[in-house]
Amino acid sequence: MEDQDKAPDSWENPQKVLVILAHPDDPEFFCGGTTARWVKAGHQVSYCVITCGDKGTKDLLIGSPELCSIRQAEQSSAAKVLGVNEIKFLNYPDGYLVPDLNLRRDITRVIRTVRPDILVTCDPQTLFTQNGGLNHPDHRAAGQATLDAVFPAARDHLNFVELWKDEKLEPHIVREVWVAGTLQPNVTLDVTDTWEVKLKALFEHKSQIGEPDKFEERMRNRRAPDSTAEKPRYEEKFRRLILG
Ligand SMILES: [Zn+2]
Repeated sequence: MEDQDKAPDSWENPQKVLVILAHPDDPEFFCGGTTARWVKAGHQVSYCVITCGDKGTKDLLIGSPELCSIRQAEQSSAAKVLGVNEIKFLNYPDGYLVPDLNLRRDITRVIRTVRPDILVTCDPQTLFTQNGGLNHPDHRAAGQATLDAVFPAARDHLNFVELWKDEKLEPHIVREVWVAGTLQPNVTLDVTDTWEVKLKALFEHKSQIGEPDKFEERMRNRRAPDSTAEKPRYEEKFRRLILG
């Protein structure tokens, strides 16, 4: 068992955490165990989900607007399971995300509004995933735009000066960034205690998980390699940057 006092997230005071990722279901897949662990420890977590996830179906009878509402409803239910009650949906179309200045401005606005101590996003450098697949281009774009918004756009008032002048949003320094979905982690959290609630949250994404039994088996098999099927241990890994 990990010593909680020495864990990298053993902050003294309750923290405000903002998770910014591309699709409905990304927060649960990338860091659901960690979110549940942080909520349990008294931290306040909110989400910003950039796209509608409106291309994620093989059902020929569902169009993008309908899928968008299904996926946002699923995201809200999943977040509730983890104890996350605040979600901002930026409603960008799924699959076409590019890390341009409009996206960077929109994310800067969210950061300056929420003013998090800790921000979680994903690694834009991950082209090939750990398990031999291709990373979704939206994940790379979301990670890039979010990191670019953290530094320097959210920090400096002359960056997107209209946010400061017209919208009265003061600059904000994010103290720590936790980058999920990275091939270069420097922090590992034990999330064995919250793996069940992560699974429960993922089950809310009914349109995404296929056959629930097979999905559950796949997720249970994602145990740490030094653990056994009888006594599994689960981990989530991040690259942690301390900026403030
Ligand atoms: Zn995704």
